[in-house]
Amino acid sequence: MGRTPTIGGNWKMHLDFEAAMTLASDLRNRLGSVRGVESIVFPSFPYLRPASQRLRESAIAVGAQDLHVEAQGAFTSGVSAEMIRSVGCTHVLIGHSERRSVFGDDDGLVSRKLSVALEADLIPVLCIGESLAEREAGQTFSVLERQLNSALRAHTTGAVARMILAYEPVWAIGTGLTATPEQAQEVHAWVRGHVSGLLGSEYAEQLRIQYGGSVKPSNAAGLLLQPDIDGALVGGASLNAESFAEIVRAAR
Ligand code: PEP
Repeated sequence: MGRTPTIGGNWKMHLDFEAAMTLASDLRNRLGSVRGVESIVFPSFPYLRPASQRLRESAIAVGAQDLHVEAQGAFTSGVSAEMIRSVGCTHVLIGHSERRSVFGDDDGLVSRKLSVALEADLIPVLCIGESLAEREAGQTFSVLERQLNSALRAHTTGAVARMILAYEPVWAIGTGLTATPEQAQEVHAWVRGHVSGLLGSEYAEQLRIQYGGSVKPSNAAGLLLQPDIDGALVGGASLNAESFAEIVRAAR
């Protein structure tokens, strides 16, 4: 069964307002009518509404980089799922490694955030991945198993039907180090197999699994050719419209 490739651009805490809007418009011009690949950008919170306005009726979706688990209340700086939806977002990153390592999102919180996103009808991009120390200690698969079990155990296949998974080895994020296509494929195949054990083979076969970690135009094609790699989550290279567009074209 064909899985439509999906490419996400995580803008993180980069770009001033003007540069972010220029990037959104530039992406619309380059990719606004591309079919056969799903493109999503994840600007910072203040840019979500104007970015989604610029990208309205284009082929590019807009997502938030995180959400708060509560619906409303005295949670200074929190941004709820409903707020995110109300400004035109369809997607949200859940459990990005920077949320896990810098902000302390643990497996329990990631699991709650996943539930909240699904309840709000946002499409979650659930990020998992091992650190360098964990890889070197031979713990890659046990870390992924823990992260997947914790996030997915509570959900039925129906609830997570539209979810996207992103495998992002932490040692490859923002470091210029990329997993080789073979290394990434090995893990993606394992992840699909594990998800099959949790939620069934039919679900696992249609699940899209992005690879993330220093993806750029020069290495995208090799990664995207792998049978279990269904797209990419791109940080640095998504800040340049032409680089991001090249990666999207490579996925086509
Ligand atoms: C990311 O932020 O998810 C990421 C993969 O970043 P980079 O492409 O810069 O490594």
